[in-house]
Amino acid sequence: MSEYDFDFKDIVDFAKDVILVTRSDPIDEPGPEIVYVNKAFTELTGYTQEEVLGKNPRILQSKGTDEETKKLIRQGLEQQIPTRVTIKNFSKSGEEYWLDLSILPLKNSQGKVTHFVAIERDVTEQKNIEQKLELLSRTDSLTGLLNRRAFDEILENELSRFKRSGEIYSLLMLDIDHFKRINDKYGHATGDVAIQTITQSCKSALRSHDIVARIGGEEFCVLLPYTNNKVAYAVAEKLREIVANTKIAATAEDIAMTISIGVSQVETADTDYTAIVKRADKNMYKAKQAGRNQVCI
Ligand code: GH3
Ligand code: MG
Ligand code: MG
Repeated sequence: MSEYDFDFKDIVDFAKDVILVTRSDPIDEPGPEIVYVNKAFTELTGYTQEEVLGKNPRILQSKGTDEETKKLIRQGLEQQIPTRVTIKNFSKSGEEYWLDLSILPLKNSQGKVTHFVAIERDVTEQKNIEQKLELLSRTDSLTGLLNRRAFDEILENELSRFKRSGEIYSLLMLDIDHFKRINDKYGHATGDVAIQTITQSCKSALRSHDIVARIGGEEFCVLLPYTNNKVAYAVAEKLREIVANTKIAATAEDIAMTISIGVSQVETADTDYTAIVKRADKNMYKAKQAGRNQVCI
């Protein structure tokens, strides 16, 4: 006689978390059948019980579900051990949602695993906030460009890719000439517009796979994949010219502005991703010393 006077099944039926029970085999196609889903399941997924009983939970996944995560789940099922993952699933109407998914093996009275229970909580909102924060932490708010942190990460990957496959790339380091004068004469807000203007000029002149970042106050970096420094020089020259011919329309008086650019190409001897940055930086200073509004290689 139980000490509780309620039906334990009610907990599962009416829990706000999704609960789904499958058989423990076959793990391979067509996969283990669903034998139970609770009310929260039908509310979240849009499927009725009748629509999913006898089917496989894979109907809730799609191409957008991470392969690595699916592999982890499969391992847990094969080894009959508890597994916990965050996974993207899809509702009946195709809407995606994120789940904190916990799978436990269930044993029969002989101690044999006959079923698995999946207990799932919708974490879509948290995941969206996480993704938004992740994006914000990589983005410069004034220009919408990648910030230094994000760009460093890309450079690091790019150097590994070069070491693996020999895919060359070049870097441009841009710095606005006499920017302090613009700030001093027209004010900081106009200086900000100048920075945004350069951003637009760069974007309009570059290819979609080139990557622009704002790595400092009025310093920008451009990564040019599959590009040697000769071609990079031509790209830099084009940018320099566009900027020199663009006026900042922030005050009654149109303000002229120029940039200096240093160019560098990845080299076999580069052991660190900062090596190419240092060379571009050095060349940028050469351009400054040579009188500004120039490209140096
Ligand atoms: P140079 O030709 O040698 O580069 O001269 P410069 O005056 O541009 O010198 P530098 O590159 O050292 O100047 C950077 C200036 O950029 C200093 C700082 O006040 C200004 N600055 C940095 N970040 C911002 C920003 O977000 N907005 C504005 N308006 N100004 C900024
Ligand atoms: Mg500077
Ligand atoms: Mg400057």
